[in-house]
Amino acid sequence: MLTDQKIAEKASTEKVLHLHWWSDKLLSFTTTRPPGYSFVAGQYARLGVRDASGVVWRAYSMISAPAQDFLEFYGVLVPGGLFTTQLKSLHAGDGILIEKQSYGFMTPDRFSDGEDLWMLATGTGIGPYISMLRDPYVWGKFRNLILVHCVRHRNEFAYHDELAGYARTPPFALPSPARLKLVRALTREATGDPNLLQGRITSLLESGALEQAAGQPLHERTSRIMMCGNPEMIEDMRALLHRRGLRPVRRALPGHFVTENYW
Ligand code: NAP
Repeated sequence: MLTDQKIAEKASTEKVLHLHWWSDKLLSFTTTRPPGYSFVAGQYARLGVRDASGVVWRAYSMISAPAQDFLEFYGVLVPGGLFTTQLKSLHAGDGILIEKQSYGFMTPDRFSDGEDLWMLATGTGIGPYISMLRDPYVWGKFRNLILVHCVRHRNEFAYHDELAGYARTPPFALPSPARLKLVRALTREATGDPNLLQGRITSLLESGALEQAAGQPLHERTSRIMMCGNPEMIEDMRALLHRRGLRPVRRALPGHFVTENYW
Protein backbone atom coordinates (compact mmCIF):
# COMPACT_ATOMS: atom_id res chain seq x y z
CA MET A 1 0.00 0.00 0.00
CA LEU A 2 1.31 3.49 -0.87
CA THR A 3 2.05 5.84 2.01
CA ASP A 4 0.40 9.28 2.02
CA GLN A 5 3.78 10.77 1.13
CA LYS A 6 4.15 8.51 -1.94
CA ILE A 7 0.59 9.30 -2.99
CA ALA A 8 1.31 13.04 -2.73
CA GLU A 9 4.45 12.62 -4.88
CA LYS A 10 2.56 10.73 -7.58
CA ALA A 11 -0.82 12.47 -7.59
CA SER A 12 -2.56 15.67 -6.60
CA THR A 13 -5.88 15.95 -4.82
CA GLU A 14 -8.37 17.76 -7.03
CA LYS A 15 -11.94 18.85 -6.36
CA VAL A 16 -15.00 17.36 -8.05
CA LEU A 17 -16.87 20.29 -9.57
CA HIS A 18 -19.96 18.86 -11.22
CA LEU A 19 -21.58 15.47 -11.87
CA HIS A 20 -24.03 14.52 -14.60
CA TRP A 21 -25.83 11.17 -14.68
CA TRP A 22 -26.89 10.26 -18.25
CA SER A 23 -28.62 7.12 -16.92
CA ASP A 24 -28.44 5.12 -13.71
CA LYS A 25 -25.13 3.65 -14.97
CA LEU A 26 -23.45 6.37 -17.01
CA LEU A 27 -21.74 9.28 -15.31
CA SER A 28 -19.80 12.34 -16.44
CA PHE A 29 -17.98 14.53 -13.96
CA THR A 30 -15.61 17.46 -14.00
CA THR A 31 -12.75 18.24 -11.63
CA THR A 32 -10.25 20.99 -11.08
CA ARG A 33 -7.11 20.51 -13.20
CA PRO A 34 -3.82 19.78 -11.45
CA PRO A 35 -1.37 22.69 -11.82
CA GLY A 36 0.82 22.20 -14.91
CA TYR A 37 -1.17 19.11 -16.02
CA SER A 38 -0.59 18.58 -19.73
CA PHE A 39 -2.13 16.11 -22.17
CA VAL A 40 -3.01 15.59 -25.81
CA ALA A 41 -6.64 14.92 -26.79
CA GLY A 42 -7.03 11.12 -26.83
CA GLN A 43 -4.95 10.50 -23.69
CA TYR A 44 -6.12 9.32 -20.31
CA ALA A 45 -5.56 10.11 -16.65
CA ARG A 46 -5.23 7.78 -13.71
CA LEU A 47 -7.74 8.65 -11.02
CA GLY A 48 -7.64 7.45 -7.45
CA VAL A 49 -10.37 7.13 -4.85
CA ARG A 50 -9.84 6.10 -1.27
CA ASP A 51 -11.51 3.05 0.20
CA ALA A 52 -11.05 1.13 3.44
CA SER A 53 -7.96 -0.67 2.11
CA GLY A 54 -6.14 2.33 0.63
CA VAL A 55 -6.48 3.93 -2.81
CA VAL A 56 -8.09 2.33 -5.87
CA TRP A 57 -6.65 3.64 -9.17
CA ARG A 58 -8.37 3.51 -12.60
CA ALA A 59 -7.66 4.90 -16.05
CA TYR A 60 -10.17 7.42 -17.39
CA SER A 61 -9.92 9.25 -20.73
CA MET A 62 -10.00 12.99 -20.74
CA ILE A 63 -13.26 14.24 -22.28
CA SER A 64 -12.28 17.87 -21.84
CA ALA A 65 -10.06 19.56 -24.42
CA PRO A 66 -6.43 20.35 -23.60
CA ALA A 67 -7.27 24.07 -23.60
CA GLN A 68 -10.03 23.80 -20.99
CA ASP A 69 -9.12 24.74 -17.43
CA PHE A 70 -10.97 21.80 -15.86
CA LEU A 71 -10.83 18.05 -16.54
CA GLU A 72 -13.87 16.02 -17.56
CA PHE A 73 -14.34 12.24 -17.40
CA TYR A 74 -17.03 9.81 -18.53
CA GLY A 75 -17.57 6.30 -17.24
CA VAL A 76 -19.92 3.39 -16.69
CA LEU A 77 -20.61 1.87 -13.31
CA VAL A 78 -19.12 -1.60 -13.27
CA PRO A 79 -21.27 -3.91 -11.13
CA GLY A 80 -19.29 -4.66 -7.96
CA GLY A 81 -16.30 -2.64 -9.28
CA LEU A 82 -14.07 -1.31 -6.50
CA PHE A 83 -13.58 2.08 -8.15
CA THR A 84 -17.11 2.69 -9.32
CA THR A 85 -18.54 1.69 -5.96
CA GLN A 86 -16.70 4.74 -4.59
CA LEU A 87 -17.62 6.83 -7.63
CA LYS A 88 -21.30 6.20 -7.02
CA SER A 89 -21.19 8.14 -3.77
CA LEU A 90 -19.13 11.02 -5.18
CA HIS A 91 -20.47 14.55 -4.70
CA ALA A 92 -19.49 17.98 -5.93
CA GLY A 93 -16.85 19.33 -3.55
CA ASP A 94 -15.33 15.91 -2.80
CA GLY A 95 -11.63 15.29 -3.34
CA ILE A 96 -10.31 12.91 -6.01
CA LEU A 97 -6.70 11.91 -6.70
CA ILE A 98 -5.30 12.54 -10.18
CA GLU A 99 -1.85 11.28 -11.17
CA LYS A 100 0.41 14.11 -12.29
CA GLN A 101 1.27 12.36 -15.57
CA SER A 102 -1.08 11.68 -18.51
CA TYR A 103 -0.96 8.41 -20.49
CA GLY A 104 -1.90 6.82 -23.80
CA PHE A 105 -0.96 6.64 -27.47
CA MET A 106 -4.34 6.85 -29.21
CA THR A 107 -3.78 10.39 -30.43
CA PRO A 108 -4.42 11.81 -33.92
CA ASP A 109 -0.82 12.99 -34.35
CA ARG A 110 0.16 9.31 -34.72
CA PHE A 111 -1.06 9.50 -38.34
CA SER A 112 1.42 11.01 -40.76
CA ASP A 113 -1.12 11.24 -43.59
CA GLY A 114 -4.71 10.41 -44.56
CA GLU A 115 -7.78 12.38 -45.51
CA ASP A 116 -10.59 10.85 -43.50
CA LEU A 117 -10.44 10.10 -39.79
CA TRP A 118 -12.73 7.29 -38.67
CA MET A 119 -13.37 7.32 -34.92
CA LEU A 120 -14.98 4.04 -33.92
CA ALA A 121 -16.39 3.66 -30.41
CA THR A 122 -18.43 1.21 -28.40
CA GLY A 123 -20.09 2.36 -25.20
CA THR A 124 -18.01 4.76 -23.09
CA GLY A 125 -15.18 4.39 -25.63
CA ILE A 126 -16.57 7.55 -27.23
CA GLY A 127 -14.81 9.56 -24.50
CA PRO A 128 -11.47 10.39 -26.15
CA TYR A 129 -13.21 11.51 -29.36
CA ILE A 130 -15.16 14.17 -27.48
CA SER A 131 -11.86 15.65 -26.34
CA MET A 132 -10.47 15.48 -29.92
CA LEU A 133 -13.54 17.20 -31.35
CA ARG A 134 -13.32 19.95 -28.71
CA ASP A 135 -9.77 20.63 -29.94
CA PRO A 136 -8.97 22.30 -33.31
CA TYR A 137 -6.25 19.81 -34.38
CA VAL A 138 -8.39 17.13 -36.10
CA TRP A 139 -10.60 19.78 -37.73
CA GLY A 140 -7.57 21.21 -39.49
CA LYS A 141 -5.75 17.94 -40.21
CA PHE A 142 -8.47 15.91 -41.97
CA ARG A 143 -11.07 16.44 -44.70
CA ASN A 144 -13.76 14.22 -43.15
CA LEU A 145 -14.31 13.14 -39.56
CA ILE A 146 -16.53 10.11 -39.18
CA LEU A 147 -17.61 9.28 -35.65
CA VAL A 148 -19.22 5.87 -35.25
CA HIS A 149 -20.84 5.14 -31.89
CA CYS A 150 -22.35 1.73 -31.14
CA VAL A 151 -24.24 1.11 -27.90
CA ARG A 152 -26.66 -1.45 -26.57
CA HIS A 153 -29.58 0.90 -25.81
CA ARG A 154 -30.49 4.35 -27.09
CA ASN A 155 -30.20 6.05 -23.69
CA GLU A 156 -26.43 5.35 -23.88
CA PHE A 157 -25.81 7.93 -26.64
CA ALA A 158 -24.19 10.38 -24.23
CA TYR A 159 -22.90 13.70 -25.62
CA HIS A 160 -25.06 13.35 -28.73
CA ASP A 161 -26.51 16.90 -28.64
CA GLU A 162 -23.04 18.42 -28.46
CA LEU A 163 -21.81 16.19 -31.30
CA ALA A 164 -24.82 16.91 -33.48
CA GLY A 165 -24.05 20.62 -33.03
CA TYR A 166 -20.49 20.06 -34.29
CA ALA A 167 -21.85 18.07 -37.27
CA ARG A 168 -24.05 21.05 -38.21
CA THR A 169 -21.39 23.70 -37.60
CA PRO A 170 -17.69 23.00 -37.01
CA PRO A 171 -16.73 24.53 -33.67
CA PHE A 172 -13.57 26.25 -34.95
CA ALA A 173 -13.20 29.07 -37.45
CA LEU A 174 -10.56 27.48 -39.71
CA PRO A 175 -10.10 28.25 -43.44
CA SER A 176 -11.64 24.90 -44.49
CA PRO A 177 -12.52 22.80 -41.47
CA ALA A 178 -13.27 19.08 -41.78
CA ARG A 179 -16.89 17.94 -42.00
CA LEU A 180 -18.15 15.70 -39.21
CA LYS A 181 -20.48 12.79 -39.97
CA LEU A 182 -22.13 10.98 -37.07
CA VAL A 183 -23.06 7.32 -37.49
CA ARG A 184 -24.90 5.67 -34.60
CA ALA A 185 -25.83 2.04 -34.10
CA LEU A 186 -27.84 0.04 -31.58
CA THR A 187 -27.45 -3.63 -30.77
CA ARG A 188 -30.03 -4.56 -28.15
CA GLU A 189 -33.16 -2.73 -29.16
CA ALA A 190 -34.89 -2.11 -32.47
CA THR A 191 -33.89 1.25 -33.87
CA GLY A 192 -37.19 2.08 -35.58
CA ASP A 193 -35.31 5.05 -37.04
CA PRO A 194 -33.67 5.23 -40.48
CA ASN A 195 -30.90 7.40 -38.97
CA LEU A 196 -29.84 4.68 -36.52
CA LEU A 197 -28.12 1.54 -37.75
CA GLN A 198 -28.89 -1.86 -36.29
CA GLY A 199 -25.99 -4.15 -35.30
CA ARG A 200 -22.37 -4.24 -34.21
CA ILE A 201 -19.70 -2.09 -35.86
CA THR A 202 -18.03 -5.26 -37.13
CA SER A 203 -21.16 -6.62 -38.85
CA LEU A 204 -21.94 -3.18 -40.25
CA LEU A 205 -18.48 -2.97 -41.76
CA GLU A 206 -18.79 -6.43 -43.29
CA SER A 207 -22.22 -5.73 -44.78
CA GLY A 208 -21.15 -2.38 -46.25
CA ALA A 209 -23.76 -0.50 -44.18
CA LEU A 210 -21.12 1.44 -42.25
CA GLU A 211 -19.46 2.95 -45.31
CA GLN A 212 -22.82 3.64 -46.87
CA ALA A 213 -24.02 5.53 -43.78
CA ALA A 214 -20.72 7.42 -43.56
CA GLY A 215 -20.86 8.36 -47.24
CA GLN A 216 -17.16 7.40 -47.51
CA PRO A 217 -15.30 4.22 -48.41
CA LEU A 218 -12.92 2.79 -45.87
CA HIS A 219 -9.75 2.63 -47.89
CA GLU A 220 -6.07 2.28 -47.04
CA ARG A 221 -5.08 5.35 -49.10
CA THR A 222 -7.51 7.83 -47.55
CA SER A 223 -8.79 6.38 -44.26
CA ARG A 224 -7.13 6.55 -40.87
CA ILE A 225 -8.93 4.73 -38.10
CA MET A 226 -9.12 4.96 -34.33
CA MET A 227 -10.88 2.29 -32.28
CA CYS A 228 -11.80 2.58 -28.66
CA GLY A 229 -14.01 0.53 -26.36
CA ASN A 230 -14.73 -3.13 -25.82
CA PRO A 231 -11.44 -5.09 -26.22
CA GLU A 232 -13.24 -7.83 -28.18
CA MET A 233 -14.60 -5.30 -30.66
CA ILE A 234 -11.04 -4.06 -31.17
CA GLU A 235 -9.71 -7.58 -31.73
CA ASP A 236 -12.48 -8.39 -34.21
CA MET A 237 -12.02 -5.08 -36.03
CA ARG A 238 -8.26 -5.60 -36.28
CA ALA A 239 -8.89 -8.90 -38.09
CA LEU A 240 -11.36 -7.26 -40.47
CA LEU A 241 -9.02 -4.36 -41.22
CA HIS A 242 -6.05 -6.70 -41.77
CA ARG A 243 -8.12 -8.56 -44.36
CA ARG A 244 -8.61 -5.24 -46.16
CA GLY A 245 -4.87 -4.58 -46.18
CA LEU A 246 -4.86 -2.01 -43.35
CA ARG A 247 -2.10 -2.09 -40.72
CA PRO A 248 -1.61 -0.67 -37.21
CA VAL A 249 0.59 2.39 -36.72
CA ARG A 250 3.86 1.24 -35.12
CA ARG A 251 6.27 3.44 -33.24
CA ALA A 252 8.49 4.16 -36.23
CA LEU A 253 6.25 2.91 -39.05
CA PRO A 254 3.27 4.74 -40.50
CA GLY A 255 0.04 2.74 -40.64
CA HIS A 256 -3.72 3.00 -40.84
CA PHE A 257 -5.12 2.45 -37.36
CA VAL A 258 -4.52 3.01 -33.64
CA THR A 259 -6.49 1.50 -30.77
CA GLU A 260 -7.31 1.89 -27.08
CA ASN A 261 -8.85 -0.92 -25.04
CA TYR A 262 -11.22 0.50 -22.48
CA TRP A 263 -10.86 -2.20 -19.87
P1 NAP B 1 -20.12 -3.26 -24.27
O1 NAP B 1 -20.59 -4.50 -23.65
O2 NAP B 1 -18.80 -3.28 -24.86
O3 NAP B 1 -21.22 -2.81 -25.33
C1 NAP B 1 -21.07 -1.70 -26.17
C2 NAP B 1 -21.35 -2.12 -27.57
O4 NAP B 1 -20.25 -2.88 -28.07
C3 NAP B 1 -22.58 -3.00 -27.70
O5 NAP B 1 -23.40 -2.49 -28.71
C4 NAP B 1 -22.00 -4.35 -28.03
O6 NAP B 1 -22.83 -5.16 -28.84
C5 NAP B 1 -20.74 -3.98 -28.79
N1 NAP B 1 -19.77 -5.07 -28.82
C6 NAP B 1 -19.44 -5.91 -27.82
N2 NAP B 1 -18.55 -6.81 -28.24
C7 NAP B 1 -18.32 -6.56 -29.54
C8 NAP B 1 -17.48 -7.16 -30.54
N3 NAP B 1 -16.72 -8.20 -30.28
N4 NAP B 1 -17.50 -6.62 -31.77
C9 NAP B 1 -18.27 -5.57 -32.06
N5 NAP B 1 -19.09 -4.97 -31.18
C10 NAP B 1 -19.10 -5.44 -29.92
O7 NAP B 1 -20.00 -2.04 -23.29
P2 NAP B 1 -21.01 -1.24 -22.36
O8 NAP B 1 -22.44 -1.57 -22.65
O9 NAP B 1 -20.58 0.17 -22.48
O10 NAP B 1 -20.56 -1.78 -20.96
C11 NAP B 1 -20.96 -3.05 -20.55
C12 NAP B 1 -20.16 -3.46 -19.35
O11 NAP B 1 -18.76 -3.52 -19.67
C13 NAP B 1 -20.24 -2.54 -18.18
O12 NAP B 1 -21.39 -2.68 -17.41
C14 NAP B 1 -18.98 -2.91 -17.46
O13 NAP B 1 -19.19 -4.04 -16.67
C15 NAP B 1 -18.02 -3.25 -18.53
N6 NAP B 1 -17.08 -2.10 -18.73
C16 NAP B 1 -16.03 -2.03 -17.89
C17 NAP B 1 -15.19 -0.96 -17.97
C18 NAP B 1 -14.04 -0.89 -17.03
O14 NAP B 1 -13.77 -1.81 -16.33
N7 NAP B 1 -13.34 0.21 -16.97
C19 NAP B 1 -15.38 0.03 -18.93
C20 NAP B 1 -16.46 -0.05 -19.78
C21 NAP B 1 -17.32 -1.15 -19.66
P3 NAP B 1 -23.70 -6.37 -28.22
O15 NAP B 1 -24.88 -5.73 -27.56
O16 NAP B 1 -24.06 -7.17 -29.44
O17 NAP B 1 -22.83 -7.12 -27.26
